[in-house]
Amino acid sequence: MPLNFTAMKKATLLEKDAKYIWHPYTQMKTAAPPLPIVKGAGALVWDDDGNEYIDGVASWWTNIHGHAHPHIAKKVYEQMMELEHVIFAGFTHQPAVELAERLLPHLPSQQSRIFFSDNGSTAVEIGIKMAMQSFHNQGNAKRYLVAFEDAFHGETFGSMSASADLSLNNAFKDHLFEVKRIPTPTPGNEEKSKAALRAVLATESVYAFIFEPLVQGAGGMIMYKPEALDELVDICKEHGVLTIADEVMTGFYRTGKMFATNYLTNQPDIICMSKGITGGTLPLAVTSCTEAIFESFLSEDKYKTFFHGHSYTGNPVGCAAALASMDLIESEETQANIQRIIKSHEAFLHRIKTHPNVREVRMQGTIVAVEFQTGESTSYFNNLRDRLYDFFIANGAILRPLGNVIYILPPYCITQTQLDKLYHLLERALNEVTAVPKETSTC
Ligand SMILES: *Cc1c(COP(=O)(O)O)cnc(C)c1O
Repeated sequence: MPLNFTAMKKATLLEKDAKYIWHPYTQMKTAAPPLPIVKGAGALVWDDDGNEYIDGVASWWTNIHGHAHPHIAKKVYEQMMELEHVIFAGFTHQPAVELAERLLPHLPSQQSRIFFSDNGSTAVEIGIKMAMQSFHNQGNAKRYLVAFEDAFHGETFGSMSASADLSLNNAFKDHLFEVKRIPTPTPGNEEKSKAALRAVLATESVYAFIFEPLVQGAGGMIMYKPEALDELVDICKEHGVLTIADEVMTGFYRTGKMFATNYLTNQPDIICMSKGITGGTLPLAVTSCTEAIFESFLSEDKYKTFFHGHSYTGNPVGCAAALASMDLIESEETQANIQRIIKSHEAFLHRIKTHPNVREVRMQGTIVAVEFQTGESTSYFNNLRDRLYDFFIANGAILRPLGNVIYILPPYCITQTQLDKLYHLLERALNEVTAVPKETSTC
C-alpha cells in the first residue's frame, strides 16, 4: 500500500467537499476546511489523522449519551430489520405509541397528546400552528405571538419570526410575521418583563407566548429563574393566552431535570422537543399539548383538522432510538453522571468567577457559560470568537463560542478527566487568548 494513501484519501475528501458541499452556518468563501471525522465513542470524536477531540458542545446540543452508543445502535438496527418506516396518517406502530407512553409521565402533568415531526424548528412551527388554529377553530382567531428578546426558535419562517432579530435574518425580515417582544426576565429584569407582558396582553389580541424555559441557548446561554417564568405563565393563564415551551435544547436533563418546565409550578400548554430526544443519533421531534388543545380540533367539520404532517412523521427507527435513549436516561449511571457534572460545574464556576477576564459566569444544570470581558468594540468580537474556536480545536476540544460567551454543554457520559481538561482549556483561554485586530481590519 502506498505510504501516502491516507493523505490522498483526505485530500480527495476535502477537495470533493469543497466542490460539492454547502455547510450550515458557514461562510463558504472564508471558512477554513472542515475537519473530516471518522469515528466517535463516548464524548470523543476522531479525525482522519487520528487526533481526538472532546465534544464539549454535544454535537450541536444533541448528544447526551456519547457517540456511537452500542445500546442505541442495537435498538436502531433491530427496528430497521423489522420496519424502517410507514406513513403515519392512517397507520400506527409500536415504537411511536410506546415512546408517547413513556414520554408523557416525564412531562408536566396536563400534557396529554404527542405530535411527531423531525427537527426542532418544525416542533416549534407545529406548536405555533396548533396554538393559532386552536383559537381559530373556536371561532375566536387572534393576531399575535409574544416572544422574548434574544429568543431563538429555529430556521423555518414561523420559528424565524418567533426568534429575536439576531441580524442573521436580514434577507427575510420583510417576510416574517410580526411578533410582540418582551424583555427576558434575567436577574434584575423580572419586573420589566412582567410589565411588558401585561401591557401587550392588555392592548393586543394574542394567541400564545413562546419561550425557551430557563436558558436561551443560541442567544448566548442567557439564563433566568423559574420563579420569573412562572409569573409570566400565570399572567398568560389569567388572560386565556396559550403558552409554548420550546424545550428543544433544554429537554432531557440538560438543565438538571428531565424538562426545564419541571422547575415550574404553572404549566405550559404546548411543549416542543427535539435535539436530545434520540440521544443525538437520529432526527426526531415531538410537540406535545394539553387535552383541551387537542379537543379544539375535534369536529364534524373537516376544516378543523390539523392539516400538518411530514413524510417522516413518527419514523419508527427514530422512535426506537428515542426509546433506547430513554432506557439510558433512566439508568442510575446516567443520573449519577448528571449530578457529577452539576457538582463539577459549580466548583469550576466558584474557581473562575473572580478572574479579571471574566465578565460573568452562569450555570443551569449541565450547562456552564463564561462570558469573556472584551472591553473591545464589537468588530473585535468575531475575531475573538474565531481565535477561541481555533485555540480549542488545536488543543483537542470542540467548543463553539457564541460571540464572547464560551459554554460547555457535554454528553452526560463525559469522564471527569475529559471534563477537567475542558475547564483547564477554558481557563487557559481566559489567560492566553485575546482579540487582536486583523491586518486587513479597517477599524
Ligand atoms: C436548536 C433549536 C431549535 C431548532 O432546532 P433544529 O433541530 O436545529 O431545527 C429550536 N429551538 C431551540 C431552543 C433550539 O435550541
